[in-house]
Amino acid sequence: MELATKSKITWCPGCPNSAILVSYRKAVTELVTEGKLTIENLVSAAGIGCHGKITDYLNTNTFEALHGRVIPSATGIKIGNPKLNVVVFTGDGDSLSEGFSHLLHAAERNVGISVFLHNNETFALTTGQATFLSPKGFKGPSTPGGSVDEPMNPALILLSIGATFVARTYALDIEGTKKIMKAAMEHKGFAFVEIIQPCITFFDTRDHYKNIIEWLPEDFPNSDLEVAIAKVREVGEKVPIGIFYQVLKPTFEEKI
Ligand code: SF4
Repeated sequence: MELATKSKITWCPGCPNSAILVSYRKAVTELVTEGKLTIENLVSAAGIGCHGKITDYLNTNTFEALHGRVIPSATGIKIGNPKLNVVVFTGDGDSLSEGFSHLLHAAERNVGISVFLHNNETFALTTGQATFLSPKGFKGPSTPGGSVDEPMNPALILLSIGATFVARTYALDIEGTKKIMKAAMEHKGFAFVEIIQPCITFFDTRDHYKNIIEWLPEDFPNSDLEVAIAKVREVGEKVPIGIFYQVLKPTFEEKI
């Protein structure tokens, strides 16, 4: 099985998007090898942003949506054929700024798709404007004096709206990200994974994150919503990553 395409990778050299691509190819390869996925039934969809190039580099069924509209597109694909394993790649600009309501409604409905959010805390494709995930004080073309807003916490929002699988990972931990991707793709229902992905050209946060990323302990009680909510809020001196929450509920496609 060859998951690479002949397209030349045009991300900036060293961009952690490439690490996400490697993690995903590994996750898909292992799921296929383990008999849990067939390549014919896999759809990789993406929105607009630097992340969106990923569909050019994947030899799977792919779909690229309008800006902010990848989640309703993926929802339609899943309803049209519930046997498909539908994976959405999106960015903080694409789904937390442009298409925010689509993300919330899909999570609340428990649509059976996996959403991998490349969180680089900026609109990287358009040279580094602030998004709703940029930190307070962030300086870019749209906020030369520094952003005055506190960043949203996407995992906290998704837990609050009722997502049945919520995780966070770090792009440069390829093996860890692969494991989380596999768990998300095996989850029955809406799976949300925030992938912290430094943009090394417009907002290089590698030094910031390298010493503060902390995996959840193996025995973390990830079926307890209150514990999960408390944990995802602990973003500060440490940034917890791992699967915060996972429960089973009827999916949107089952309900309709
Ligand atoms: Fe990656 Fe940032 Fe370059 Fe986009 S601008 S390819 S996110 S390093």
